[in-house]
Amino acid sequence: MEKKKLTTASGRPFFEYENSMTVGPRGPILLQDYFLHEEMAHFNRERIPERVVHAKGSGAFGTFTVTNDISAYTKAKIFSEIGKQTRIFLRFSTVGGEKGSADTERDPRGFALKFYTEDGNWDLVGNNTPVFFIKDPKKFSHFIHTQKRDPKTNCKSPTMMWDYWSLNPESLHQVMILMSDRGTPYSYRHLNGYGSHTFSLINADNERVYVKFHFKTLQGIKNFTNNEAAEMKGIDPDHAQRDLVDAIERNEFPKWAMKIQVMTEEEARHFKFNPFDLTKVWSHKEFPLIDVGTLELNEVPQNYFRDVEQSAFAPAHVVDGIGYSPDKMLQGRLLSYPDAHRYRLGVNYEHIPVNRCPYMVANYQRDGQMQMGDNGGASPNYIPNSFDDIIADPAYKEPAMELENTTANWFDRNENDNDHYTQPGSLYRDVLSAEDKKNLINNIVGAMKGISGEKKDLIVNRQLCHFFRADIQLGMAIAQGLGVTIENEAMAHAN
Ligand code: NDP
Repeated sequence: MEKKKLTTASGRPFFEYENSMTVGPRGPILLQDYFLHEEMAHFNRERIPERVVHAKGSGAFGTFTVTNDISAYTKAKIFSEIGKQTRIFLRFSTVGGEKGSADTERDPRGFALKFYTEDGNWDLVGNNTPVFFIKDPKKFSHFIHTQKRDPKTNCKSPTMMWDYWSLNPESLHQVMILMSDRGTPYSYRHLNGYGSHTFSLINADNERVYVKFHFKTLQGIKNFTNNEAAEMKGIDPDHAQRDLVDAIERNEFPKWAMKIQVMTEEEARHFKFNPFDLTKVWSHKEFPLIDVGTLELNEVPQNYFRDVEQSAFAPAHVVDGIGYSPDKMLQGRLLSYPDAHRYRLGVNYEHIPVNRCPYMVANYQRDGQMQMGDNGGASPNYIPNSFDDIIADPAYKEPAMELENTTANWFDRNENDNDHYTQPGSLYRDVLSAEDKKNLINNIVGAMKGISGEKKDLIVNRQLCHFFRADIQLGMAIAQGLGVTIENEAMAHAN
């Protein structure tokens, strides 16, 4: 095989890659050693901003296959026939840690999917938990600050975390899942994914239903205990990345069963709580899971930076037959995710191969940094025009979304929606095994023992009240673990 010649970035074959051009063997370097400068300058610019959340991640390409007909609910072409296959890219991540942090940290896991459909790329940007800590995006940056580093010590701070959680009771459901062993999954192959938000599905008759997406791991749920996760942090901080790559390279392709829950608009209107509240699940008993298809990961990207680091997902990217809902967190993310990508990757981030729609894209967006397509060539850059043949096809029009209220205001997010305790209580009593309960309590006690400083008692007692309200026995066990005398302290605050 003919060998490739080393070249500069502009393609000039270059003969010297080890020694700089100097005046005599011991003299200074000449400015005209262009290749030296080019290499140093490029190296200095190798890092792009890491994601402010979900910085540490792993990804793979794969296939989605339809196994059940859901055309009664959606006209999305991806679901048009049983057996139909669509290429996908799936990126997993931790949330709070930096790019070099350990894969086994206690944290939710991102589960971000890109389906390359013929009607455009559909991004479903979820987590391994069906709920989230907050229900209004105005609280997001504040919440995330508490998961990052203390402004003074530059260390993670249990005091910040529990201070925030204890002041935001709606976080309790997600805190319980985070503190259970599901907060330390064994690997990315052994966790469930959830679209988490409520979305819409729209069928061929333009009828809307609301939907939640679930992805159940076919490898089975497998978690580390707190101690095992801490141990693995030292042995292999990249455990989940290595596990994913190794499994796919062994041709053990990880798979998930995609399922949906469906709620009619009428049911949503009269539901007992806000069905668009991201801190709550829809009970499986009331809204049974409906089979949809299978996800399989079968291709490790050849270059991590190109495909995984530069991948960019946005919940705003839906396709015909799938729509949004009034979920406030979803509404906030519709704006925020593309904004983050424009900052991190540039305005033309959708030209990057992993993000590019492999089917036709036709619009009037032009120019901007790193324009890498044909930029519309010679065709008009305005619409309406008399020259091109691009049409805005009315067949794709979404049905109107009916809203109940016409009053604009800053409504209290918890008004008439302040039951933060029933579902966490049910999780504890009805779902967790005895072993799960024991580990949950130990994990919470261990984490809360990190609270320090002059407000320690206030924060501990305030959070204990939330656990008591979810379940008295849970509250008692945590209080006992923390050495708090219930009668005198926590109960006083509970009233
Ligand atoms: P179900 O008994 O029908 O469902 C409970 C679900 O909980 C399971 O199907 C499983 O869903 C999930 N689960 C099982 N073990 C754990 C665990 N250790 N940690 C977290 N989740 C677990 O009851 P409901 O649907 O009425 O829900 C009861 C409670 O279960 C909820 O309040 C919620 O806390 C929790 N839950 C409910 C989910 C839902 O979408 N309804 C999803 C996840 C949790 P899965 O296989 O999806 O993990």
